[in-house]
Amino acid sequence: MGKNILIIGAGVAGLSAGCYGQMNGFSTKVLEMHDQPGGMCTAWTRGHYTLDGCIHWLVGTKPGTKMNRIWGDLGALQDCQVAQHEIFRQIVVGDRVLNVYTDPDALEEEMLEKSDGDEDIIREFTDAIRGFIGFEPPLDTRKISIIEYIRMLPYLPKLMRYQKVTIGEFTERFTDPFLKKAFRMIFPLSSSPLFIAVLTLALMSDGDAGCPTGGSLAFAKRIERRYLELGGQVSYRSKVVKILIEGGRATGVLLDDGSEVHADHIVSACDGHHTLFDLIGEEHLDQHAVRPYQVLETFKPIVYVSMGVDRDMTGEPPITTVVLDQPIEIAGEKQDCIGWAVHSYDPSRAPPGKCTITSMIETDYGFWRDAHSDRSRYECEKRKVRDILTEHLETRYPGIGSQIEVVDVATPLTWERYTGVWQGAYEGWMPSTEARRMTIPRTLEKVENFSICGQWVEPGGGVPPSAISGRNAIRDICRREKVRFHGQAR
Ligand SMILES: Cc1cc2nc3c(=O)[nH]c(=O)nc-3n(C[C@H](O)[C@H](O)[C@H](O)COP(=O)(O)OP(=O)(O)OC[C@H]3O[C@@H](n4cnc5c(N)ncnc54)[C@H](O)[C@@H]3O)c2cc1C
Repeated sequence: MGKNILIIGAGVAGLSAGCYGQMNGFSTKVLEMHDQPGGMCTAWTRGHYTLDGCIHWLVGTKPGTKMNRIWGDLGALQDCQVAQHEIFRQIVVGDRVLNVYTDPDALEEEMLEKSDGDEDIIREFTDAIRGFIGFEPPLDTRKISIIEYIRMLPYLPKLMRYQKVTIGEFTERFTDPFLKKAFRMIFPLSSSPLFIAVLTLALMSDGDAGCPTGGSLAFAKRIERRYLELGGQVSYRSKVVKILIEGGRATGVLLDDGSEVHADHIVSACDGHHTLFDLIGEEHLDQHAVRPYQVLETFKPIVYVSMGVDRDMTGEPPITTVVLDQPIEIAGEKQDCIGWAVHSYDPSRAPPGKCTITSMIETDYGFWRDAHSDRSRYECEKRKVRDILTEHLETRYPGIGSQIEVVDVATPLTWERYTGVWQGAYEGWMPSTEARRMTIPRTLEKVENFSICGQWVEPGGGVPPSAISGRNAIRDICRREKVRFHGQAR
């Protein structure tokens, strides 16, 4: 057995690093503060319902793609049905509806039919989607292989073009007021490059961004199973409080029970801010590592409402967004839209004839932190959010209010408590143009044998980038140790 690696965190990134570590001959151990795997890729039960807290779509569901081979390495989709949606999202503006079809031809037809003018821009958008079908982004944008580069060549002009324009800028080009309002909601990430929207729809249309049934926790548990089968070890309820550094090298970790665990390499796959400022300590940090935390924008935290309803919602679109006539205040913030996901496509989440619904509402971290100092106010604010959502669901689905059997409201503090995620920024850094230009360091200049992986080194976050970054952390260790890297995806 080769050298040993300690991995902090059993989220998708940590489990992926563990699997690739084992596959490459290292002896690895994952330390997880919680009592189960998955981190933010999770779900929980309430009564007969499984409330899912993560995957709405997953890149890599098409057999044969690079990302699919990574899921193959990790056993993540083994024996799992993948739901492919005809409609990605339904957007409601007043009494008008835009169905965002995953097939670009159907989407083009829908947009042309629902708009007055804007034909050129509609066709430009749907042509861009068609143009990226089959495109596979490199597994590591910092180390693009020659093969990957050659495969990317035909896409480069389009790639550069749609990296330069943001979703917000493109939206401004629509003149039809309905379409302008609706387009903004397809991917409400106005500062992000249009490329992200175009690529996601291209992947969906190609069957490479479906939704694994069984949910997010089952998905994470399959990776954990693969890791254990490969001989890895996971230690739950093991909270790391310090990374031990001697003579400029990471040598081990200190756990909250006072014990120390030593290893040749330490990989942190937990929250980035916690890793640098709590576990490592400012005296060991360099300016490159700190800079993202000074200048980049994080994902705005969310309040996440989950419901189990005694109602058959078969055929409802997986995601609905309602653009409001007048903004409403939710948890101290003005909202100009409200949306929800209906999971009727996944029978594992509810008994037959019933369904789960979830809603992600952007919110202010400070609001919930302040509310939390008074338990009854905190609970009251959660109930208010639940009531507002129920009211809007009732308008769309009359009678649903009395069919709600379970409700759960998670705030940014819930995510923070559960996974340690900094200020509830559930996907790390926004994939803004600035973030994508910046190379977020995965190692530290002053600490050898240490690396960091997970959503905080991959702007945009998400389950696939976390898995890729766990793999890349091991590939980098292989390089340092002069070991040939093994893994199906290249
Ligand atoms: C509501 C919601 C919806 C989402 N939807 C999608 C989606 O549709 N598609 C998609 O791809 N992504 C989605 N995401 C994002 C995705 O969940 C995350 O980007 C991804 O799971 C992050 O994985 P990670 O391993 O990098 O980090 P994490 O999941 O944060 O894992 C870190 C782990 O480290 C542990 N830990 C923290 N501190 C310590 C410590 N000191 N000692 C030991 N252990 C520690 C934590 O408990 C956790 O298990 C969603 C997230 C949320 C919350």
